Amino acid sequence: MTIKISDIEDELAVKGEVESSSFQGAEESDIVFKTPVAYKLTVKKIGDVIVIRGSIGCTLSLICGKCLEEFLFPVDAFLDIELVPITLMPSASEIELKGEELDVNYYEGDEIDPDPFVYEEIMLSIPLKLVCRESCKGLCETCGVNRNYEECCCNELPHTILGEKLKSFLN
Ligand SMILES: [Zn+2]
Ligand SMILES: [Zn+2]
Repeated sequence: MTIKISDIEDELAVKGEVESSSFQGAEESDIVFKTPVAYKLTVKKIGDVIVIRGSIGCTLSLICGKCLEEFLFPVDAFLDIELVPITLMPSASEIELKGEELDVNYYEGDEIDPDPFVYEEIMLSIPLKLVCRESCKGLCETCGVNRNYEECCCNELPHTILGEKLKSFLN
């Protein structure tokens, strides 16, 4: 999506959907978008600073780290970014003096494309530990069955051995 800065008087409401194909890097990623990304943003102009805030939502298809099955993950994220004109970007030496300013975003000219920020926010909303559900039992390490669907007897033995070891350790 493209927002023209000259179109913003004080505040502009933008609402719509963006296809995941317009996100750079989305195709190389393992993350599969099941739906377009719906956004409802408010773009505010405060002096030269542009503030973009609002909700973004979509459904992703992810792979459970425990049972390796695909599961649907709803994203309900909130975007909150500030952009300043690139002309205000401090020089390298100024950054060194003031310390790092990693969180500042810049825009150039009269147009802003919030898509990269939307994509980043979606990526940030994905938990590090991907599990299809809290109670996922995962795969059996010995025979490989999906223990959400099947029972196996493999882990009875290791458990008792571990139990015995623990007992002797505690004694
Ligand atoms: Zn799982
Ligand atoms: Zn097993």
